[in-house]
Amino acid sequence: MCANLGVQNPPIMNQLQSERQEAAWGHQCAGRVNPIAAQNPFCYYAAVTDIAVLVLNQNYEPLNVCNARRAFVLVGRGKAEVLENGRGYLRSPSFVFEIPSVIRLVYIIRRPRPRGRLCRRDVFLRDRHTCQYCGRQTRDLTLDHVLPRNRGGQHAWDNVVAACKDCNHRKAGRTPEEAHMQLIRQPARPAFNPYHPFYHYLDEQVEWRKFIPGWQPDSGFY
Ligand SMILES: [Zn+2]
Repeated sequence: MCANLGVQNPPIMNQLQSERQEAAWGHQCAGRVNPIAAQNPFCYYAAVTDIAVLVLNQNYEPLNVCNARRAFVLVGRGKAEVLENGRGYLRSPSFVFEIPSVIRLVYIIRRPRPRGRLCRRDVFLRDRHTCQYCGRQTRDLTLDHVLPRNRGGQHAWDNVVAACKDCNHRKAGRTPEEAHMQLIRQPARPAFNPYHPFYHYLDEQVEWRKFIPGWQPDSGFY
């Protein structure tokens, strides 16, 4: 939790919309702001308000990620509270704003649980960023259709795997059998983990980790 500086809900939006005020803001943020941007008040302001902020539901369930500008508004309007600061303060001559890292809504948002989409990122997550032919873990993965699409293969969970470029090139337009290559495991639709979309933030966003279940250091590796 962050220190209470005794500043009661300042008129945040008015402050944000005042260019003169923005230009006057000091460079006293301890957050992850590009140091080059910090040399210029306008760039600094933009860099701070673009910082990613984790939004939790009232019941502490991770909901989404917004930027700090949106978080300022939610907190300023009394719709959310700051749970983690971790990034210092944005100071104007008359106000001090916490730069939040994690905020929690004061009311519950009910929404249908999203289903796992078939996209590159989620295929790589399912396959733990490992080539399904040679077993190499790499950031430089491609998507391979086990039965090539031009031979009737579907773009579906049970026909796509992560493959390194070398293996994908070697397999080319053939089936694994024709290319004498073996899959490490047969692809299938993964059990959808609603927290996957947050994992790739967690290498950097250390304060978020305790709010996101199931994360391991290589979960967000891509
Ligand atoms: Zn490979």
